Amino acid sequence: MNIKQIEKIVAPPPVHYVGDGFRVHNFIPSTPGLDMRRMDPFILLDYNSKHFFPPSDRPRGVSVHPHKGFETVTIAYKGGVAHHDSSGGGGVIGEGEVQWMTAGAGVLHKEYHESNFSKAGGYFHMAQLWVNLPAAHKLTPPKYQHITKDKIVKVALPGQAHALLIAGEYLGHKGPASTFSPILFMNVVLAAGQQTQLNLIEGDTTALVVVEGSIEINESQTAGTDHFILMERKGETFSLRANDDAIVLVMSGQPLNEPIAAQGPFVMNTRAELMEAYEEFRTGKFGYLEE
Ligand code: MN
Repeated sequence: MNIKQIEKIVAPPPVHYVGDGFRVHNFIPSTPGLDMRRMDPFILLDYNSKHFFPPSDRPRGVSVHPHKGFETVTIAYKGGVAHHDSSGGGGVIGEGEVQWMTAGAGVLHKEYHESNFSKAGGYFHMAQLWVNLPAAHKLTPPKYQHITKDKIVKVALPGQAHALLIAGEYLGHKGPASTFSPILFMNVVLAAGQQTQLNLIEGDTTALVVVEGSIEINESQTAGTDHFILMERKGETFSLRANDDAIVLVMSGQPLNEPIAAQGPFVMNTRAELMEAYEEFRTGKFGYLEE
């Protein structure tokens, strides 16, 4: 097993708001060195670090917007996200839950703080990752995978740590989410002082987000809360040691190595397909959804 080294540790960039409910640090693609090509198959990562939202009668969020050609993966660490779409679907992503939405051929949706959370106010902490779809599956019918806590697979790791596996295979276990290309997506949970070893696939795009606590990687470099770590493609194995109780989001995916034409909420392979997506949106092909 060859050591996988750190390529880059990124401190959380200044926040911006998506709508009025998502106060996010954008790591992918706007951070230098984390563009869509390098991060293939990951297109975007918006990370809402833990933030207190005061009570509000009107749920904060982001109003009606389309997506086409990829998947959005939303993970709620604190607080809840409600969503509604143009096919009449909707639901709540509760604390500790994940929504894996395949936009595929196109959806229209809106995303808000869950209404009880919104009324009470509280800490909100979430991440949304956009995973590209292979060209062969870009027009797959839209669907949701609502991954509740009981579906997430607990995997024992060396050194008493454990992983909460959402997608992909790890140490003989299989995560609940189905994906269109090989993706590993999991949270690694370490108590203070614990050290563990991860073995991933050489050549994949591998990155970490320190969601809680702080960690030391390969017994050399420390990354604090809300920091993003890009690992080299080379190598397979690396160690994580928790300086204090830590949760580390791990994403690793096989690059698609296909042309990317991305603009706004659409991720296609060619400029012509992008234009087509805008035209479909303009002419109501994604359906109708009330603001
Ligand atoms: Mn959206």
